[in-house]
Amino acid sequence: MKKFLSLLLAGVMTLSLAACGGSAEPETDATEPAAEGSGQKYVIATDTAFPPFEFTDASGNFVGIDVDIVNAIAEDQGFEVEIQSLGFDAALLAVQSGQADGVIAGMSITDKRKETFDFSDPYYTADVTMAVAKGSDIKSYEDLNGKTVAVKTGTNGADYAKSIADQYGFTVTEFKDSPTMYQDVIAGNTVACFEDYPVMAYNVQQGAEMEIPEGMTAAGSDYGFAVKKGENAELLAAFQAGLANIKANGKYQEIIDNYTK
Ligand code: GLN
Repeated sequence: MKKFLSLLLAGVMTLSLAACGGSAEPETDATEPAAEGSGQKYVIATDTAFPPFEFTDASGNFVGIDVDIVNAIAEDQGFEVEIQSLGFDAALLAVQSGQADGVIAGMSITDKRKETFDFSDPYYTADVTMAVAKGSDIKSYEDLNGKTVAVKTGTNGADYAKSIADQYGFTVTEFKDSPTMYQDVIAGNTVACFEDYPVMAYNVQQGAEMEIPEGMTAAGSDYGFAVKKGENAELLAAFQAGLANIKANGKYQEIIDNYTK
């Protein structure tokens, strides 16, 4: 018993030493000060319904990982945001036409988009998956032969589906937003859709009458915040600095956990 107690004591001492070591680490006040030009207001465009990244919750509030990240960064960097929920394709167009300053919409960083957008560092990584109606007998790309699949205009998922359409003999039909695309699959007009995995998984978990066949997940991509190429460099720099700060101070992880646990 005595031996056990002294072992325990030794353990406790090691733990408190470790805790002391920890507290010597720099605190969150070591983060970058707020950017100059504080108080600037930016219009940030986003998708309409792309949970858990952006969506309207049960109380009617527009929420999500992207919404919280951009608000946390705005607070950290001392700028104001007006979030406009336009739809994915429309959000990208709004930035290109100068109607919005930036876009955060679960937007994948791609070489093609880099021709017209400047991106922040990645803040999330997601795969694309095929999804089908619950109980569907479509299990693989081979089963899509002669059928029609649904995609969302302007997305990575749309590009991916189109890239394999000829090979597997299916046709592609486009929708403007994810809920309409899912409804079409559930109604049986189209036999499958292509969607970002975390979004599809979230919807299935929330009760969407759909399922994700095994092994039908493809090539991951990184999400980034974007501005029009060559424009709004100040906003992009503030986003970058703020992202680094909220990652360092735990706010970023808190936001992710809040929507994914
Ligand atoms: N990540 C995908 C893309 O960038 C889909 C984004 C979205 O639908 N909001 O194309």
